[in-house]
Amino acid sequence: IVAVENLRKRFDSQVVLDGVSFAASAGEVVSLIGASGSGKSTLLRCLNLLEVPDDGRVLIAGEEIALRTDKRGRRAPVDPRQVDRLRSRLGMVFQNFNLWPHMTVLENLIEVPVRVLRQPRAEAVALAEALLEKVGMADKRQAYPAFLSGGQQQRVAIARALATRPAVMLFDEPTSALDPERVGEVLRVIRQLAEEGCTMLLVTHEMAFAREVSSKVLFLHQGRIEEAGSPEQVFAAPRSERCRQFVNA
Ligand code: ATP
Ligand code: MG
Repeated sequence: IVAVENLRKRFDSQVVLDGVSFAASAGEVVSLIGASGSGKSTLLRCLNLLEVPDDGRVLIAGEEIALRTDKRGRRAPVDPRQVDRLRSRLGMVFQNFNLWPHMTVLENLIEVPVRVLRQPRAEAVALAEALLEKVGMADKRQAYPAFLSGGQQQRVAIARALATRPAVMLFDEPTSALDPERVGEVLRVIRQLAEEGCTMLLVTHEMAFAREVSSKVLFLHQGRIEEAGSPEQVFAAPRSERCRQFVNA
């Protein structure tokens, strides 16, 4: 459902992704682990074109993102409508929730389905309410984000990402901004999605959780996949010495 081939990205002279290739099929949970600065967020951001890759291919649900080099030598998408279409197949959840502060919980969930995807409002509300139920936030549907705890906001952010019925969910350290006592409630929601067969890419520092939910784990080091395999292999018997040090730290 997601495939990345030989992805490269640099910022000025710094090479951040140095030829990354991997694939995730439907129902898989692929976790990305690695030290700070190894390129994990950049990799996710290249999938939804928040960053434009310098080289390589990205395929979402079988469709390749068409990229070209413009007159100034910069890489850009060929067709902005394709970018919108592909983005609507990805549900993104960030570290800092990023809910719209001037909208209630329910409004946060129906905004994109109604205004961008032109779904009938009643349909969008029905799905939003079902999703809020699923993440345990139905009773807060009329609340504004500022009145919610971090864990509650993140559960709403997950429901919002699901509201466009994405093919793939992308999580970038969804629990790292939370108070320790709030981490569990968010991991519980992600675990439930994994059990339901939701395809996801998960950047996380929660090693025990990654080991438990992943079908595949990728260890990134300096913009390359240094180790890839089953959670058992990557956590218990890594071939790479760097990976062994990282997971044991
Ligand atoms: P962390 O675990 O700290 O989130 P990460 O693995 O997600 O790290 P990235 O955020 O992908 O790492 O960053 C990789 C490198 O690219 C870092 O050295 C970072 O400073 C650099 N970088 C990321 N985004 C940009 C940008 N927009 N402009 C310039 N440099 C950037
Ligand atoms: Mg990051």
